[in-house]
Amino acid sequence: MKREFAVIGLGRFGGSICKELSMEGMQVLAIDIDEDRVNEYKNIASHAVIADTTDEVSLKEIGIKNFDHVIVAIGDNIQASILTAVILTDLEIKKITVKAQNDYHEKILTKIGVDQVVHPERDMGRRIAHNIISNNILDYLELSDEHSIVEVKASKRMIGKSLVDLDIRANYGCNVVAIKHGKDINVSPSAEDALKENDVLIVIGADIDISRFEKHLVIDDN
Ligand code: ATP
Repeated sequence: MKREFAVIGLGRFGGSICKELSMEGMQVLAIDIDEDRVNEYKNIASHAVIADTTDEVSLKEIGIKNFDHVIVAIGDNIQASILTAVILTDLEIKKITVKAQNDYHEKILTKIGVDQVVHPERDMGRRIAHNIISNNILDYLELSDEHSIVEVKASKRMIGKSLVDLDIRANYGCNVVAIKHGKDINVSPSAEDALKENDVLIVIGADIDISRFEKHLVIDDN
């Protein structure tokens, strides 16, 4: 059976989730308090309705309880976002994802007990900052407050050397969990094979260790 999604708040973030889910063939109900925004999504989502989601009665009338996953993408109006999240948790929706606007908002949402809090501006800012530090840092994914995964292109310093030569674990405390080359991905990379140009290493570790690894091995001098 197809999962059914409801997206509340059709700004840039909520709108983009709504479009992607619809393009993937999912059933999506688009909800916003603003009539113009709802009209924009009438032909994109499966259904689009005007509602103030801080009103429990309106949410019940929409039949929000029938949805498998509700995404709350109300950003600027933090009060409306929190109230909506409280009502959804009270209604025991199977899965609730909420976009947080700042760290305090995130803390409150976590305390309320929503399943997933996302912070797209902060995460994207971090990714771009790492890519600005070095073009070799392709992606950066936070796993916890202290651990991350980074995707790095083999730097000039790495090319021609094997994982044994570089000894990333002993020297920097991080682990290379996979190596990508083009479309191929090797999840148990050989310790002896020399790294080639355009190899991409997937590295996991504590942020402090990843930072040392980036400074010493990833950032090219030029
Ligand atoms: P983004 O940063 O994603 O571009 P935005 O700045 O366009 O968002 P926000 O103010 O963050 O807009 O709100 C997102 C949407 O949430 C808006 O379209 C707004 O009308 C809607 N919204 C705000 N309050 C409510 C509410 N109580 N019920 C339903 N929708 C709401």
